[in-house]
Amino acid sequence: MSRAPRVRAPRLRTDWMADAACVHMPGLPWIENPRRVPDILLDLMAEACAGCPVRASCETFADQAHITAGFWAGESRHHLQVDDFHVGDDGWAA
Ligand code: SF4
Repeated sequence: MSRAPRVRAPRLRTDWMADAACVHMPGLPWIENPRRVPDILLDLMAEACAGCPVRASCETFADQAHITAGFWAGESRHHLQVDDFHVGDDGWAA
């Protein structure tokens, strides 16, 4: 019996999450569909992201992981589709 070749996906770094501003604001709707979130809460999350020390890492992670939901790096990602990402030869966003 032959087996399909194993594909090893690159590990995404998550150590930056320890410094994320949003971990101190668990009451905000970070993963809610933005259509169900009042503008004032979207503004509060955007403000938190604007001052977040790991915003660049957050955006890179969200792109590389093809995240299409939630509020990451200052904006909602609900409008994105997996097809919106350029996928490299390794199967991950480039
Ligand atoms: S940029 Fe925003 S969503 Fe990303 S880690 Fe910072 S506070 Fe959280």
